[in-house]
Parts: sequence; C-alpha cells; structure tokens
Amino acid sequence: MRIFAFVLCVFLPATAGAQPLTDRQADYVGANAIAIFYHELAHALIDIQRLPVFGQEEDGADVFSILMIDYLFEEDASAAIAYDTANGFYYETLEAEENGYAPAYWDVHGISQQRYYNTVCLYFGGNVDERSEFADELGLPEDRSYTCEEERALADDSWGNVLDDLENPDKSQDFLAIKIDAGTDTPARQIWATETKAEVQALNEWLELDTPLQVTVAECGEANAFYDPSSREITMCVEYADFLGSAAETLFTDG
Ligand SMILES: [Zn+2]
Repeated sequence: MRIFAFVLCVFLPATAGAQPLTDRQADYVGANAIAIFYHELAHALIDIQRLPVFGQEEDGADVFSILMIDYLFEEDASAAIAYDTANGFYYETLEAEENGYAPAYWDVHGISQQRYYNTVCLYFGGNVDERSEFADELGLPEDRSYTCEEERALADDSWGNVLDDLENPDKSQDFLAIKIDAGTDTPARQIWATETKAEVQALNEWLELDTPLQVTVAECGEANAFYDPSSREITMCVEYADFLGSAAETLFTDG
C-alpha cells in the first residue's frame, strides 16, 4: 500500500523550471520541500513506530509537519516556512478554481482550504502573543483563532511524546539514509534535493527509529511525494519540485 501525500494534476511545458528563481521563489520551493518531507516522515513514523492514529492519518501528518517546522527552526525562519506552507495550500486552491475542479470532499486529504487554515492555526497557536500578525496576514478568522492555542497544546502533547521517545543523541547509527536518484538540473529540483538531504542529516543527529528509513529523491512521472510501508521508503519526486517552481513563478511574479 502506498500512502500518497499530494497527488496533483500538473501540466507543465517541457522547458518549465529551467530558468533561475528569484530568492523569494526559491524560499517558497524550499519551505514547501521541508513541509512535504515532514508530512511524509509522519507517515513513516506512524508505520515504523506503530503509532496509534485517532482520526485521519493525513490530518495527523499535516499536524506533525507544522510542529516540526516550529520545533526545528528559529522564530523568523519557522514563520517564513509556515507562511509558505500555507501558501502552498492556497496555491492548490487557486489552481483548482482556475481549472474548474470541484473540491475533492471524498479524498483522504482534507480540502486545500482546510489544510491552509489548519496550518495557520497550529502555527499561530504555538505562540498566540507573538504571532497575531502572522494570523492576521494569512486571514485566520477570529472564530477559529480562539481554539488555536488549545489545538496546538493537544498537538504538542500528542506528537511531542512521540518525539521524546525517539530522541537519542547517543544512538549508535544513523537511521535515515538519503539517496539522490534523479537529475537535479533545475533550480527547483536542486532546492528540493538539498532541503531533503539537509533535513535527513539534521534528523540523524538525534533521531532513533525501530528500523532504518530510506529517503529517495527520484523521478516518478507525477508531482508527488509518498511513503511506501513495504520498503520503508519516502520518495520525494522531482516532478513535485517542478510544480513548486512553477507555483512560485505564479505567486511571486515580481520576485
Ligand atoms: Zn500524506
């Protein structure tokens, strides 16, 4: 069984992504690479560590991703990554509307607008005194904002306990292996591979798993990222980087 993270309908010209990205566009690609990697890592942890899942696994993976962004990065960096992670869901909403796609209420993932607001709420909830500007800028409705601190505390308790159990700086081996198994000859693909590798290396400093986990950057023929329990492998498809690069060019036209 494969658990797909974000299956997207992408129609890109053959030359898409070859041109340089502005710094702003590159930041967007990097932020989403990080968020997507941690979403997939959640699927891997649920499988490898046999974690209980109460509710939709996809929602749990989104929660884990935004928590890790907050835990692992300094305030300014985590806010920027959270902002662009939300932007990623915003772009998916825009793209679906432009293409006339109806929201996929039947899908295992929440619809992109829900994922957007959940991301904003959970990040805001991590520090409501300091992050009201973040919530305002991203349009978090007041009605939702009231529960974000509580939602975040529950998420911290749930995933925090899991992370505490996995933390072992004195472990005897690296549990994550990284393989770049595709050409990374465009700016977006380079960022995708570099960020994935950097997160794997950072996790190897402290993370201990019951069994090793393979992380592979590969060509898949579609813009996707997924965890495969049968091989205990996260695949980060380079076509997803192409999609993010294209999205960045649309979202940030003036750089
Ligand atoms: Zn997923």
